[in-house]
Amino acid sequence: MGYESKMNEQFAMPTRAQVEQALLRSLLKHGGVIKEFGLGQEIVDEIGNDFGLSEQQRTAFLQTVYRKENRVKKSLLWHRLLFRAADSLAKEKLVSRPSQNLQLTNKKEWMLTERGFDEALNLSNIPAERKEFLPTKSYEVQKIVKKLKESSRPENYNPFDIGKKVIKVTRESTLRTRGFRQAVIEAYNCKCAICGMKIKTPDSLSWEVEAAHIVPHSYMGRDDIWNGLALCHLHHWAFDVGWFTLLDQYMIQVSSKVQRLPSDFGRFGNYEFIRSLSFKKTKIFLPKSSEFHPHHNAIRWHRENIFHQ
Ligand SMILES: [Zn+2]
Repeated sequence: MGYESKMNEQFAMPTRAQVEQALLRSLLKHGGVIKEFGLGQEIVDEIGNDFGLSEQQRTAFLQTVYRKENRVKKSLLWHRLLFRAADSLAKEKLVSRPSQNLQLTNKKEWMLTERGFDEALNLSNIPAERKEFLPTKSYEVQKIVKKLKESSRPENYNPFDIGKKVIKVTRESTLRTRGFRQAVIEAYNCKCAICGMKIKTPDSLSWEVEAAHIVPHSYMGRDDIWNGLALCHLHHWAFDVGWFTLLDQYMIQVSSKVQRLPSDFGRFGNYEFIRSLSFKKTKIFLPKSSEFHPHHNAIRWHRENIFHQ
């Protein structure tokens, strides 16, 4: 038995397989990413707490002698164990390494892969159907998000993707859909562009807000940030059926038909979720970067084809 294994045994450390599972669950809890393991990193303590590690277990260290320099190097046994577990997850292609992610997100973090994401859901008893709506990062989806964020905004944007397969769902199209959702929701800071509603699920895994297509998917609308809006469920519905639209300066235009609605329609308590938008000229909440603002070609199409004047 090697020195490190002996030390793990001596300090009754959790097994590597146990730490691997704990890491996958933590990755899911932290949106798909965790920082490299080092002193003062919250994640190191958090997983330590999951195992109920004693002070002794947390502070035990390994001593290795660098023969060349004749120098002793100390490293914490617990950090080493976390690293070994993460390294083994990377070999199994369940996570991507910090060095890989540095190019993708500019952060040195471990990130779930699609396979790791599935495994983490399974370990956390979360139904696989939820996956599609979780903003959890995965290496494959982040590659798409990066591409969406970095593509330069065309002057004359065509919001239609004629080659888009509307009916056939492929692995590629589900990844692209998730990339679109994440990029749009992030751009709008997880808030409804119309009412500013921002709330997440009690398990903190996902946001209420949805990524809406301006030119809908069923009309072969593109999965680009410029053809997207982050909207709460109510405003998403109202936008899709044409209760309101946007003007070129991103002001909200409400259908005149709203005046003919019975007064008890579209309200909860004192809040009128469509009528209130027509009281004053309101501009939507826009992403900070104008690169991500909805494109006029997409909103013009919505105004002419979906909106009920
Ligand atoms: Zn809303």
